[in-house]
Amino acid sequence: MINMNKKPKVQNRSTKDDITVTEVPAACCDDLAAVEFLERHRWGGHPPGCPHCGDVNVYQMQASDGGREKYYRWRCRGCKQQFSVRTGTVFEDSRVPLRHWCYAFWRASTSKKGVSALEIKRHTGLSYKSALFLLHRIRYAMAPAEAGQLGGTVEVDETYVGGKPRNRAASNKRGRGTSKQPVVALVERGGEVRTRAITDVSTRTLKAAIREHVVQSARIMTDEFGSYRGIGSEFAGGHHTVNHSGGEYVRGDVSTNTAESFFALVKRGMHGIYHAVSRKHLHRYLAHGTTASWRMGSA
Ligand SMILES: [Zn+2]
Repeated sequence: MINMNKKPKVQNRSTKDDITVTEVPAACCDDLAAVEFLERHRWGGHPPGCPHCGDVNVYQMQASDGGREKYYRWRCRGCKQQFSVRTGTVFEDSRVPLRHWCYAFWRASTSKKGVSALEIKRHTGLSYKSALFLLHRIRYAMAPAEAGQLGGTVEVDETYVGGKPRNRAASNKRGRGTSKQPVVALVERGGEVRTRAITDVSTRTLKAAIREHVVQSARIMTDEFGSYRGIGSEFAGGHHTVNHSGGEYVRGDVSTNTAESFFALVKRGMHGIYHAVSRKHLHRYLAHGTTASWRMGSA
């Protein structure tokens, strides 16, 4: 999979996201095919979240002939700003057509000995200077870095553990505002779970946890809790919420069921084995929960 984040991040995706040889060559000779290919790989086939404000109410801009607008831009109904698949990527401040970027990325990732700027110049018709620029950016984007961040669709949920059995009343379903130990869980759908004991469930704390554990290309899903508001502007996939207090638990593929079932397992384990877990030892218990045995399947 191509890493288009400005900051290099380690790739930890399943092979279903890998580029297939049938679609890359098409993306190398046609700019619309290149744009659609990159959009699909960056946003997973979903409409993107606005990179400016995080709103998911966005639409493709159209040309007068009904096709896509010249620069393949999108517009956000929330903040009225425009963006494209280039926004926030190594392509952003380049005017080189995306089909040439696709070609250079493809060659760079499939050639054993690497690819030279001269080859890219010959095969695309770009200037040597542009070809060199592409290869520098591509090397930067493909460099491995920060291990272990979660990506794709990441569900985030917070809960309180270690106290008395929770009050099942709807108004206090999650125990927010009690003195129990707050914990945040971040679950990559089909991937790993991270849990952290946190000091509180403020915007500052929860957003910091998400920034630390999730790649910027991800799609964030939470319930409607106010502390998560605005996080979508920092992630390419935007922020999607389900309104639990309105009785909504799943909308399309938007839910936090995976994170919630993880917490259900943790809590059941605590009641059955530990009865109560002191704050001091909670991090050990949760660390145990992040091993392979806790891997969650797709929701
Ligand atoms: Zn916006």
